[in-house]
Amino acid sequence: MENKFEIVWANCLNIIKDNISHEKFKTWFEPILPVKLEENMLTIQVPSQFFYEWLEENFVDLLKSTIKKELGNKGRLEYSVVMDNSYYNNMPYTVKFPASNKKLIRNSPISMPLDINKSSGVSIPNPFIIPGLKKVQVPSQLIENYSFENFIEGDCNRLARSAGLAVANNPGKTSFNPLLIYSNVGLGKTHLANAIGIQIKNNFPEKTVLYVSSEQFLSQYISSIRNDSMNDFVHFYQMIDALIIDDIQFFAKKEKTQDVFFQIFNQLHQNGKQIVITSDKAPVDMEGIIPRLLSRFKWGLSADIQTPDLETRIAILQKKLYKDGVEMPEDVIEYIAYSITTNIRELEGALISMLAQASLNRKEINLELAKHIIDKFVTSTSREISIDYIQKVICDYFSVPLNAINSKSRKREIVQARQLAMFFSKKLTKTSLATIGLHCGNKDHATVLHSCKTINNLIETDKQFKVYVEELEKKIKL
Ligand code: ADP
Ligand code: MG
Repeated sequence: MENKFEIVWANCLNIIKDNISHEKFKTWFEPILPVKLEENMLTIQVPSQFFYEWLEENFVDLLKSTIKKELGNKGRLEYSVVMDNSYYNNMPYTVKFPASNKKLIRNSPISMPLDINKSSGVSIPNPFIIPGLKKVQVPSQLIENYSFENFIEGDCNRLARSAGLAVANNPGKTSFNPLLIYSNVGLGKTHLANAIGIQIKNNFPEKTVLYVSSEQFLSQYISSIRNDSMNDFVHFYQMIDALIIDDIQFFAKKEKTQDVFFQIFNQLHQNGKQIVITSDKAPVDMEGIIPRLLSRFKWGLSADIQTPDLETRIAILQKKLYKDGVEMPEDVIEYIAYSITTNIRELEGALISMLAQASLNRKEINLELAKHIIDKFVTSTSREISIDYIQKVICDYFSVPLNAINSKSRKREIVQARQLAMFFSKKLTKTSLATIGLHCGNKDHATVLHSCKTINNLIETDKQFKVYVEELEKKIKL
């Protein structure tokens, strides 16, 4: 590394790395290339417009402070956005930083539309398509209800949703090809994958969109072998403009199927067609998938969907109720959302059984009915314990004001309440140490660790304290 701009950017990366998760760093900062440094302006190259917008929306403060640290107060950052289409890879346009109005300002005199689609005259003839086949109307198999409109946005799915939208508005032309969406069951992969397809159809009615489950693909493939029509099978898939393939984990250990999918994948990808894949795991954790296919998955973007937070769960329930034209008291909705935390399908299931019970037995929908039904419902799923809730229980228990934990107070009982809040947050939630610290008086993760140690020591040495802690834990879990 000889160039100054490379050294500066490497230093910036070191700072950034310490401030965000590894996943985010890999997704959003590793693909960036430093380009030049002139006066105090560092130019970095990003792979797409969407990428630039995402950086601006989510990391602008971090970037700003990092650049200032490295280049001083006059430090500036400039983006150079690579055209997504490989034909224009060498013709970047640039964006000045801070680009606060989120509009791209093109400095270089390129008179090309930002969104390059087929009308720009670039089309690659596909030698494999039999002319007659092209006229066949392919039923897209999309599920109409699973639209973006019906998909509630939350922290849990923001990246996947945004990337999905970018892909839907510019299929095959973003760097998210393939777009791989992964999560546990019931968190919205199928819904989001369909939403992308629906949106592509809306935007580009002439495009052929196909949604298939992996099982369907598999059985089509098997019957094509049986009927000696393998070629037709492959050709059929090669005419798709946007292929959405759901639950790819079913391909595990089926190497022949993966081989043929690999072939189709390459053909589509080379021709600028969009591929969307869902899976129950991230590519790194997938088992039984042939390495060359796995490496293809890593070409694009892998975006996960996490379990939704309480607000998002409430919003999802409200949306469903609104769509069905049903009303339900606020406290009942909240109770359901509080009780079912890890699976949106179960959340909807609980809502449906509430409505069914109420109408079948002509019962009023109230908290009592909700408790009765939900308690039966919640067997496998456990209730969410939040940091806020832990703090509330602890403050009630010690009769200290709720905001004391977040204050700077060094009073003994408040320090102890704060330490207990950290201790239980670490023990009973999946939250990171850094986040726990942030919500318990803006401390860093080392302080959280230290607090947990202190509490553990006290439990071991002070019998009375141990009793307090056990009582508290019972109250929190109640
Ligand atoms: P997965 O494919 O991950 O198992 P699904 O896409 O089938 O999950 O989602 C399960 C149910 O939850 C579906 O009925 C879907 O409409 C609903 N759902 C999931 N995510 C959302 C969301 N963000 N907003 C609204 N409904 C959602
Ligand atoms: Mg699914």
